[in-house]
Amino acid sequence: MSTQILKKIQDKDKKRQELLSQLVLERKMVKGSFCQIFVKCGSKKCWCYSVKGHPHKRMSLHENGKNYTRAVPVEDHEWMKEMTESYRKYRLMRRQMNKLENEIKRLLDQQEEKSLKRTKKGKAYLEIPGVSEPIC
Ligand SMILES: [Zn+2]
Repeated sequence: MSTQILKKIQDKDKKRQELLSQLVLERKMVKGSFCQIFVKCGSKKCWCYSVKGHPHKRMSLHENGKNYTRAVPVEDHEWMKEMTESYRKYRLMRRQMNKLENEIKRLLDQQEEKSLKRTKKGKAYLEIPGVSEPIC
């Protein structure tokens, strides 16, 4: 019956473990994203009048339920770029982890649903196909 599901669960779990080994690696990061915004200075004589404005590098942060931006000094641009990129990658892995865990959960539900059996006398029971020993 559902040894296919079991195989899928094992595949997902393998990916999950690989991802976890990445997630626990030492890293430095800044919670936020580094972005460029454009601000018009207001002078009609300035070059920025006819375009979108002067570029400014800013940090976009989300804290205590609020979004806000903060100016980043030029000397911190490279550092901030690396730190926020590190954070972006980390968040991406966390999302992948959630996705994998949800998929495993869904597969386990599927397996449970498909495992209903009945004895000769009509008693209902679940028989989940699986490995006879724990994997880890
Ligand atoms: Zn201007």
